[in-house]
Amino acid sequence: MPEQYTPHTSTRYCRTAERQSEKPLPELYASREQCCGCTACESACPVKAIRMTPDAEGFLYPEVDAALCIGCGKCTKVCAFKPDQQKRAEGGKPDHEPAVYAVRHKDEAIRAASRSGGIFTALSDLFLSEGGAVYGCVLTEDFRAVHVRAEDAAGRDRMRGSKYIQSDLLDCFRQVQADLRAGKKVLFSGTSCQVAGLRSFLGKPDSNLFCVDIVCHGVPSPLVWRRYLAWQTEQHGSRVTAVDFRNKQRFGWRAHVETICFEDGTETDSQIFKTMFYSHSILRPCCYHCPYKSTLHPGDISIADYWGIEKAAPGFSDNKGVSLVLINTEAGQQCFDRVRDALACVQTKLQDSLQPPLIAPFPAPANRTAFWEDFYRMPFADIARKYGRKPFMQRVKAFLRKKLRRMLQKQK
Ligand SMILES: Cc1cc2nc3c(=O)[nH]c(=O)nc-3n(C[C@H](O)[C@H](O)[C@H](O)COP(=O)(O)OP(=O)(O)OC[C@H]3O[C@@H](n4cnc5c(N)ncnc54)[C@H](O)[C@@H]3O)c2cc1C
Ligand code: SF4
Ligand code: SF4
Ligand code: SF4
Repeated sequence: MPEQYTPHTSTRYCRTAERQSEKPLPELYASREQCCGCTACESACPVKAIRMTPDAEGFLYPEVDAALCIGCGKCTKVCAFKPDQQKRAEGGKPDHEPAVYAVRHKDEAIRAASRSGGIFTALSDLFLSEGGAVYGCVLTEDFRAVHVRAEDAAGRDRMRGSKYIQSDLLDCFRQVQADLRAGKKVLFSGTSCQVAGLRSFLGKPDSNLFCVDIVCHGVPSPLVWRRYLAWQTEQHGSRVTAVDFRNKQRFGWRAHVETICFEDGTETDSQIFKTMFYSHSILRPCCYHCPYKSTLHPGDISIADYWGIEKAAPGFSDNKGVSLVLINTEAGQQCFDRVRDALACVQTKLQDSLQPPLIAPFPAPANRTAFWEDFYRMPFADIARKYGRKPFMQRVKAFLRKKLRRMLQKQK
């Protein structure tokens, strides 16, 4: 890692002195906020002149090899993110409201292994049972989040659980294209910008493609995650063997506590990474300008944790996980109807289901640059101390709330 934080500002090029073509090089994004890293441009380039490479914050951005680029312009045409940002800036509104459901998978083991109510497993089971391919995010052995393809339940099960870092899509867009060309059914799951990028790369609708997008708070930096795990390893003097970004089994669905397991058999529960996530300093810059922060989503179905379930469907939640399901298309409704037998579900009202990421993006925090400058010059222990704990007043308030709750419980 270099000594200093020097973020890049716009499209990166390499080997510019060795250019063969006279055609201009493509401008993929004029500022980092305009690129979500969806890989559509990389996948569309006919001469493989684009490579996704990490920037100073560990997020992947396309880099154009000027020596290979023939200036065909396919990469700029296929980018959905900037036009979608433009539409949002112009006040684009959905032309219809999605149908909304609260969902719990009837199989308790599936629900326990899933982030919310297990809707992803119900939908993907349908595709697997029909010989289709399922795409989603898994954690590798070295704890990187990557997108992979699965054709069986074991492969799909690794996709369960939210990995709160940006996933590397690797070669998935081209694999989806190959599957569709072979006449295979495909379920692709990912963040809204990944789904929009895939649809744009494919270019035309295909009835064999079904997309599920997750309602997305924003994606944290894989580089911060890596340094966090390295620090945890150092602290414990033992190798990390497993992580759970949000340990639902031990703390319940609502809580957000990460658990890290070590080779020596010990475990640690922590909220350091979670606190940095919610401080928003470690989100990808485009997330502060996300065009999908509304009820207008690119998936056939959008899924989320059902925050607000107490009001939307009183008595439905048992703190073991409820999924919010937004049905955006006719195909979405048909697919949902086919998996309903596996689910306990109730139709709810959209206005009772509007958590903040369904309304507007979170703004970049005032201390974002300060965080990254510190990240480059401080040991991680100091970063954890400075940014991995809630501000003092919030901690005092939480302490007082807890005390008050205990007193009230005693009086009952
Ligand atoms: C980065 C991130 C931000 C989120 N923000 C919100 C939020 O603001 N509000 C909210 O209600 N819920 C949020 N979620 C969680 C999302 O709601 C759940 O994925 C959803 O409830 C699925 O429920 P399930 O029970 O079917 O889960 P599971 O079976 O656990 O579903 C897992 C699904 O999540 C996908 N997934 C996991 N990690 C990633 C990743 N890093 N990138 C892309 N896809 C991934 C998998 O491919 C799979 O499709 C977020 C998840 C992630 C990964
Ligand atoms: S296609 Fe995706 S990765 Fe390429 S510039 Fe656009 S948003 Fe970035
Ligand atoms: S202009 Fe064409 S050749 Fe050059 S990077 Fe874009 S897609 Fe590749
Ligand atoms: S917040 Fe928006 S831009 Fe950021 S990863 Fe999620 S869907 Fe993509």
